[in-house]
Amino acid sequence: MLPVLVVHGGAGQIPKERAELSGAGVRAAVRGGYTILRGGGSAMDAVVEAVTLLENNPAFNAGCGSVLNSKGEVEMDAIVMDGRTLASGAVSAVRNIANPIQLARLVMEKTSHLCLTAEGANQFARTMCVPEVPAESLITDYARMRWRKNLAPDANPVECQMGKMGTVGAVAVDVAGNIACATSTGGLLNKMEGRVGDTACIGCGGYADNKVGAVSPTGHGEAIMKVVLARLILFYMEQGHSAEEASDLGLAYMKERVAGLGGVVTVDPQGNWAACFSSQQMSWAAAQKDTLYYGLFKGERFTQSIDDLH
Ligand code: ASP
Repeated sequence: MLPVLVVHGGAGQIPKERAELSGAGVRAAVRGGYTILRGGGSAMDAVVEAVTLLENNPAFNAGCGSVLNSKGEVEMDAIVMDGRTLASGAVSAVRNIANPIQLARLVMEKTSHLCLTAEGANQFARTMCVPEVPAESLITDYARMRWRKNLAPDANPVECQMGKMGTVGAVAVDVAGNIACATSTGGLLNKMEGRVGDTACIGCGGYADNKVGAVSPTGHGEAIMKVVLARLILFYMEQGHSAEEASDLGLAYMKERVAGLGGVVTVDPQGNWAACFSSQQMSWAAAQKDTLYYGLFKGERFTQSIDDLH
């Protein structure tokens, strides 16, 4: 069964014209990460590579392509977790960084802390010689258009939710049986300046434990935090549920208890995996035994050989 990598490109509702970009992006990211796993690389390297590729892809709400806050600026959250040691690193409300996921990994590896925020995270990036990029370079025309549309006095709340999708995440198990997760986001469109969502919070926006599995969620961050979604799903797995059952149970609990919608990718130590969502859609892809699986709507699961993907 091992190794395996599962990625998501966000839960929500995606306009038709963006669906192809999103699908192609998650398939390319899973291929990039799986190449590492297939070569005997670590789960941590694979999830960071997959999420880096997604952050660099302007089709997603992470890195370049992040949604804008109420001031029209980009502030990003990201987390990684290593299931072997339970080490974790996160950054929140960070600006001017092309790949927040790599900065989160540096927080894990080079500090004694779990999360650095805002200017403190940027200062740490400078000490680590992580280059800062102009704020404008992270803003796409699409993100600016959505922000403007959302601010318009006659904004239609339903239309504003369209395209509300694109947080990225990955979970993996490597050949040594080590498990990792990574999640990265620009957060919620029009969020207050300084808002920190689930993605930067351990147990909410991600959790990995070699003894149980790993989860990377997406969806309404405040709802995810209220139910501590990633760890909740792992609790269900500890109680004997499969990765898929536990994911559905966690999402159902979040819907019923706090009316929150979202999605998750989940793995267990044997390499069983799931991509589940309570939202209308979630862009996801998985790779295992040189086969690529992917889907967008409920019940969809297409397959192809990993080597056919260009
Ligand atoms: N969970 C993210 C946040 O609330 C958004 C998303 O996944 O779409 O920041």
